[in-house]
Amino acid sequence: MKLFKRGDSGREVRDIQSRLIEAGYLDKTSPEVSSSFFGKETENAVKSFQDDRGLLADGIVGQETWRALVDASRSFGNRFLFLREPPLRGDDVAELKRRLNNLGFYCGKEDGIFDIDTALAVEQFQRNFGLNPDGIVGHKTFDALLRISRIIKDTPFAAIREAEKGLPTGGIKGRRIMIDPGHGYPPDWGAVGPSGLSESDVAENIADLVSQQLVEKGAIVTFSRRKGEHLSDRERAFRANEQKVTLVISIHLNDSGDPNSSGATCLYYERGNYRSPYGYRIANHILDEISEFHHGKDMCVRGSSLTLLRETRMPVVVVCPAFITNPKEEALLRSDEFLRYVARAIAVGTDKYFRGVKSRAEELEEREHHDR
Ligand SMILES: [Zn+2]
Repeated sequence: MKLFKRGDSGREVRDIQSRLIEAGYLDKTSPEVSSSFFGKETENAVKSFQDDRGLLADGIVGQETWRALVDASRSFGNRFLFLREPPLRGDDVAELKRRLNNLGFYCGKEDGIFDIDTALAVEQFQRNFGLNPDGIVGHKTFDALLRISRIIKDTPFAAIREAEKGLPTGGIKGRRIMIDPGHGYPPDWGAVGPSGLSESDVAENIADLVSQQLVEKGAIVTFSRRKGEHLSDRERAFRANEQKVTLVISIHLNDSGDPNSSGATCLYYERGNYRSPYGYRIANHILDEISEFHHGKDMCVRGSSLTLLRETRMPVVVVCPAFITNPKEEALLRSDEFLRYVARAIAVGTDKYFRGVKSRAEELEEREHHDR
């Protein structure tokens, strides 16, 4: 599209100004508005809008800023929302997803894209509230969402119980799982241990073993990359989305400047007040399994919004089974026995996840909730 900047005027400038007014950045009584002139005030409004949206604040309206302005002026309830190709985008979709997630109808990341998970969550919501389950958010569904959101605001436990319905059950057979060995060379070896072992090599070895175990259990396994291939995390996320897998297991290793740091970490997606219930469950299952025999100092499950976790449309768990920078653990990572044990732990945890078994951490949280 054409760029609009200071000095321009006309119909398009009027449109930009009316969206800035609607989004609260420009005063509608400004003389620039009545003359549809892109002057200093309009420029300042554009800059602060860009700044708030994480865009380059240059005061020029190009394609990206225009798209953000269009998204911003879509307030919740002003248009019907439904699944289509290309998907509907906007702040109203993000608001819908936030409300559905809060109610326990999990539709994933609150990113403003109406995807298949959003449609399924809408249907589930409609079914639960006696509406026609067509996956289309029209007047009745909007009204119900607004009403229920008000009622349920202070009862997060309902959300916890609802979440169980959305979590997978029925076993691992036939599930499409992507295994993602971290890094890849050239040029990226990942972290390197004191005796020269590379994270990339270990990740590939574990990935092979995990794949064998999962295939034995009946899963359909794909890899994010070939051996020795290098891909950015964004490309890995893109491949996972394209292949429509139901889970991504990414393998990395911990590293630290302190050679004494030891132990395993599992990461799941978390951002703001949204925690992926899927990621959280499988991360806990896998860490619990690894902890059975691995007596590292630091065994933890942690939320994160790394690229791979953030840009994928399915649950992702990042498993880091040991510290490659710790000489003892580096030696473990050279032993087939330890690698096989890690692979088995990942496969057992994944199997529990697909059978719908709750993790110990979830049970503990629920118990705490009852006691309160
Ligand atoms: Zn790594």
